[in-house]
Amino acid sequence: MKKSLYFKIILILVLFVVTVIVFSGVILLNNVTSYYMLDFYNRMEELFDDNSKLKSDLSRAMENESYKSDLKHLLDSYSGVLGIDDYRNFYILDNTGRYIDGTDDELGQSLEKTPNLIAALSGKDGSKMQAGSEFADYATRITANERSVVIYIKDSMDEMQRFIWIIFSIVLQTMVLSLIFAIILSFFLSKAITSPIRNITESAKQLREGDFEHDIEIYSDDEIGMLSATFNEMKAALKSTLDVASDERAKLETVFTYLRDAVIAFTEDGRVLHINKSAIELFGDAYTPSFNVNSFISLLNTETDSPASDKSKPQIDPLIESDIMYNGRVLDINFGNIKYNENNKTHDGLIAVIHDITGRYELERSRREFVANVSHEMRTPLTSIRGACETMLQDENMPEDFRRVFLNMALTECDRMTNIVSDLLTLSRLDNKKTRWKISTYNIADSLKHVTDVIRVDAQKHKHKLTLSVVPPMPEISADRERIEQVLINILSNSVKYTPDGGQVSVQASKRDENTIEIVIADNGIGIPKEDVKRIFERFYRVEKSRTSETGGTGLGLAIAKEIVNAHAGDIVIDSELEKGTKVTISLPIKTPLKSSDD
Ligand code: ADP
Repeated sequence: MKKSLYFKIILILVLFVVTVIVFSGVILLNNVTSYYMLDFYNRMEELFDDNSKLKSDLSRAMENESYKSDLKHLLDSYSGVLGIDDYRNFYILDNTGRYIDGTDDELGQSLEKTPNLIAALSGKDGSKMQAGSEFADYATRITANERSVVIYIKDSMDEMQRFIWIIFSIVLQTMVLSLIFAIILSFFLSKAITSPIRNITESAKQLREGDFEHDIEIYSDDEIGMLSATFNEMKAALKSTLDVASDERAKLETVFTYLRDAVIAFTEDGRVLHINKSAIELFGDAYTPSFNVNSFISLLNTETDSPASDKSKPQIDPLIESDIMYNGRVLDINFGNIKYNENNKTHDGLIAVIHDITGRYELERSRREFVANVSHEMRTPLTSIRGACETMLQDENMPEDFRRVFLNMALTECDRMTNIVSDLLTLSRLDNKKTRWKISTYNIADSLKHVTDVIRVDAQKHKHKLTLSVVPPMPEISADRERIEQVLINILSNSVKYTPDGGQVSVQASKRDENTIEIVIADNGIGIPKEDVKRIFERFYRVEKSRTSETGGTGLGLAIAKEIVNAHAGDIVIDSELEKGTKVTISLPIKTPLKSSDD
């Protein structure tokens, strides 16, 4: 740009200089020629005027016998006023035009009969300026004593030509100098114009790269200076507009990124227009660079009648699809229409807002299961009690031994119901944070000894080998002793229950680190299938209903144990292998953050 502007300025200045000089040259040359001619004729007419001194001198000289030489001498004496020189001569001719005398004999012998000369020979005035003539001439006739001669002045105009050449060469020199000057001037001029423009261009480029820091320096208060100032103002305005826009965008971006719901927007032709972090996490490895509406549809295409199931194009009608199962998660999907801009055009697209309702779904499922389980657990003993009562009523003569059997059965079932109700109440208090805790600092080794002693009677019944080992040094812990012992008894009694007679049940306690102790209760019993282990802490969850009913369990023991341990900020983990045995690891903080309810 700089280059072309530079050449444009040079061209304009050169053309201007050439035009001005050529015009002035032509005008000058024309004027010089006209002036020269005019000057010649004016002077001749003035000198040879009838009343002029020269004319009267000439007429007087004609009266002499030696008029020819007298005329010559007279004209010689006037040669200064007549301007006689190498290029201008005078000739004295007789009335036939024959040369008598003059300043150049040779030229005088071969004079051309010009219109002015012819006019003078015929007695008229020979003073006409001939247009386009290469010479200027003047002829006048002098008559006296019946003699007449023609005085003829002829200027070859070589003097004027020489002068014109001088003028021409001056014009040429002026032109060359002016051109050089114009080129130098145009260089500075173009520099003066292009430098600020280049600065503006540079700044515009920086702007394109996102650099809003550098202002253009303003050197003048002319149009370019105003342009620079306006550019700076425009940049500042643009920056503040962009700042506002990018702040807004950043806010939206943040909201969008940290939105727990997964959001994907698709273009008209199914490309991903936008996807947020939650969506990328949800789809994991399935989210590839070629991910589009079809991949999305096939991912969610489950046995449910998904809205996306048989659509190859984005769905236009907004709708909600609930309970879509995907990758172990339960999803609610809201579909909606969107409008977006691309390539300066507005298009229709599709947005899917995916809400992960797995937690709610699970909660609802376990609530339903819980209600079903409670009802079932209550009905079983009630049916037995009812059966025993009915049998006794129907048979009035029932022997006393039988009656006792039925009454004992009713009593056992009542105990079972009491246990269930008591366990449910314990859980309910734990759930509602209504449990009354009694936190004390006690010797855990003593407590473990007490617990194993309690269980030992049962273990001996089943001929189990029950061992306790405490790795010293075992610190005192602060916890709700009674409830922790309840947890240990629950787990130990499970080990006793679910281990075939003559098995091994061990209790090991150790300090795991500065803040934690670990109690491991292990048996070599029937174990728990892998798929059940992860659900074993759920309320009423039992591996096989049959094996529990035999043992009289409620299916709430482990759930209560977990709630109590977790309330103490501890943890409980089960490892088990079917037919090999079960290992329950309880970790407890040496000092629980749990506070006594009396405090
Ligand atoms: P329950 O009162 O039925 O024993 P729990 O909540 O204590 O209820 O245990 C839940 C289920 O976990 C039991 O029904 C049993 O099937 C299984 N279980 C618990 N402990 C063991 C164990 N040590 N060995 C084998 N199975 C066990």
